Amino acid sequence: MTLSTAQIRQKFIDYFKRHGHQPVASSSLVPSDDPTLLFTNAGMNQFKDVFLGSEKRSYTRATSSQRCVRAGGKHNDLENVGYTARHHTFFEMMGNFSFGDYFKQQAIEFAWNFLTQELGLAKEKLLVTVFSDDDEAFDIWENHIGVPKEKIIRISTSDNFWSMGDTGPCGPCSEIFYDHGEHIWGGPPGTPEEDGDRFIEIWNLVFMQYNKQSDGTMAPLPKPSIDTGMGLERISAILQDVHSNYEIDLFQNLIKASAEVVGTTDLQDKSLRVIADHIRSCSFLICDGVMPGNEGRGYVLRRIIRRAVRHGYKLGAKDIFFYKLVKALTSEMGEAYPELADQRPVIEKVLKVEEEQFSKTLSRGMAMLNDVLRDLEGDVVPGEVVFKLYDTYGFPADLTADVAREQDYTIDEAGFEASMQQQRQRAQQASNFGVNYNSQLTTDHTTEFTGYTDEQGEGQVLEVICN
Ligand code: ATP
Ligand code: MG
Ligand code: MG
Ligand code: MG
Repeated sequence: MTLSTAQIRQKFIDYFKRHGHQPVASSSLVPSDDPTLLFTNAGMNQFKDVFLGSEKRSYTRATSSQRCVRAGGKHNDLENVGYTARHHTFFEMMGNFSFGDYFKQQAIEFAWNFLTQELGLAKEKLLVTVFSDDDEAFDIWENHIGVPKEKIIRISTSDNFWSMGDTGPCGPCSEIFYDHGEHIWGGPPGTPEEDGDRFIEIWNLVFMQYNKQSDGTMAPLPKPSIDTGMGLERISAILQDVHSNYEIDLFQNLIKASAEVVGTTDLQDKSLRVIADHIRSCSFLICDGVMPGNEGRGYVLRRIIRRAVRHGYKLGAKDIFFYKLVKALTSEMGEAYPELADQRPVIEKVLKVEEEQFSKTLSRGMAMLNDVLRDLEGDVVPGEVVFKLYDTYGFPADLTADVAREQDYTIDEAGFEASMQQQRQRAQQASNFGVNYNSQLTTDHTTEFTGYTDEQGEGQVLEVICN
């Protein structure tokens, strides 16, 4: 029997619960007490102070399935969506944690037993990495678990050494990879072809054993701890016998719903994968209180919404469509996340308003960009063009880059930044004269949305984004 994604999540939590771990609910995508973090990007975030020893809990072992967004900040997978089989902007990271309780050997045993016994994965398909100096982990994998030497790869880069920041708890990691088979391009970790999707990392085990001092020295932690993270969608792909995360039950249902609302029948189109990915991050961000805006978290959300809308437009959407997918998402994930079902009306409303707003300028911006690309000499879209698209048509620079990339062009980011800087200076000078340009420029006529045609009247006033 093939397990659904929802069942796999439950199996993970149940397994660790049976082994003495306290199930803990996912925390919000907006970190409550960590201004250094844009969005929650790992299961350990909510336990940061417990690892640091400044917060005490009534348990020393925990397990969770944490919603994560990696669309900005240190971890940013936005550009990977639609291009790799394994990355999302929103995903769930399942983890087990030990706060000074068990350490390396038991963490490795738990992970291996869960994968090979509980889930029944074939041992031959698995390989592992360890940090180059971590002989202890190498020895456990080889002699205790019985993984053949040639399948234990020593990695010396920061990929296999985790730290919370410049100082504080840190330690080596060991990552577990799954071989999806020779027919898929890519090499094992540590080889030049590792960026391919043949060997996919499924689980990262972090052994927190040092406290890094400001002078760079590593003091051993009195109580070494464990932090692990396994991508739910990646393990679902393996168990459902498909290669890409986008082929699992949950994503197939979202892709079908996306195809329906934009009116296409080609389920293989990569734009559908992007839309299916983005409806998850956008809905959950709004659910957790982020509102589209022009800076910070709100601007990241706005950028993702606009990217999704542009992909729908590319597929020929005739009408406002994005908010309609909240229903399908709620059927997929509302049981695990009741707050999603509760917030559904709000999420739909916000997405609808955002799309209506952007739809006023999208087709004309696209017409301009396509003209530029057609006549472009070289392969870099000039910064002034990127700025004009941003300033006049509301195209975030990464959206322009996304369109350009589809035709093998890049954008001049430095040139764009320079134009932005000039605009800020102009605004500054203007405000010195006591004129509020922002209020003069932002004229938001409410026009009736009449579909994504290229014939919107010239009289329509454009939204001007002022930073
Ligand atoms: P990769 O090298 O594939 O980008 P990572 O090393 O950045 O992954 P970690 O930071 O170790 O990932 O996160 C722990 C686990 O979370 C990974 O092993 C993977 O299963 C999952 N994961 C990480 N990033 C994503 C993502 N963008 N989408 C889906 N799953 C992810
Ligand atoms: Mg990554
Ligand atoms: Mg990795
Ligand atoms: Mg990793």
